[in-house]
Amino acid sequence: MKFRKSQKIRFDSHSGAYSIVTPRENYDSQITATDVEAELLISFFGKETIQIGNVKSNPTKAKKTFKLFPSGKEICLNLVFPKPAKPELRLYLSVRAGYKPMPNDIWFIFEKDKNLWIGSLDEHSWRNQNKILVCDESEYEYQEAIQELDEIKVRKLNARDVFIRDRKIALERMNTSNYLCEFDKSHHLFLSRFTGKPYLEAHHLIPMSLQKEVNQPLDIIDNIYCLCPYCHRAIHHSEKNLTRNIIETLVDKRPSVLNILDNDVTDIFNYYAVEDIA
Ligand SMILES: [Zn+2]
Ligand SMILES: [Zn+2]
Repeated sequence: MKFRKSQKIRFDSHSGAYSIVTPRENYDSQITATDVEAELLISFFGKETIQIGNVKSNPTKAKKTFKLFPSGKEICLNLVFPKPAKPELRLYLSVRAGYKPMPNDIWFIFEKDKNLWIGSLDEHSWRNQNKILVCDESEYEYQEAIQELDEIKVRKLNARDVFIRDRKIALERMNTSNYLCEFDKSHHLFLSRFTGKPYLEAHHLIPMSLQKEVNQPLDIIDNIYCLCPYCHRAIHHSEKNLTRNIIETLVDKRPSVLNILDNDVTDIFNYYAVEDIA
């Protein structure tokens, strides 16, 4: 699978690929690289430099140098085209060489600084590295500021907001959505003691933490959804099916949200670490 925005940011690389290590691949100590993984290996090393057939017939040609993630240590692994007619590659895993991912780990390669990096992470760690995108330290202050009517307090809260979000845009979204939860209009809302209006929270579907990486503004009405507290917690913290369900519903509601960073739904799943990994 091709790196998407979240992985490109995480690994600071413009091209990378990843997939799951099957128990069989671990047992046989060899990974079959197809599709994007194969394309990346071929384009990096050059097709003519890759050995066709078994390793033994030309061990020097079969040997390729990688940088091991995260240490950056150089390691050598054997890489061949096992069958002359097929575009798939075989990468040999080796404990001695320092690379032997466990079954069901995610293995990945990516290009950076003219090197080809290789690494592996267990699925939990792989997903969690994205999660950093949806964590927001000033979230509480932001939601408070939306409720707050006292301008002096609002200014104080704004000063602490690392993402500089404008509460007025959030309020505009709540108004246009008639103060209903955008995931499900029937969700019960209590009244805010400050505003007297139904209590909603504002959520940026494309995480504000991406703002450091992109030029397009993310604190815009198209990117803000108002959610009841239950749905808001769920989109951030739920197991993946509910989070995906909420994301899909919100995107269906305003597909224009995808245009902001030219994302597709899978990019968004990726930001929340709830994508399918094949
Ligand atoms: Zn949120
Ligand atoms: Zn809701």
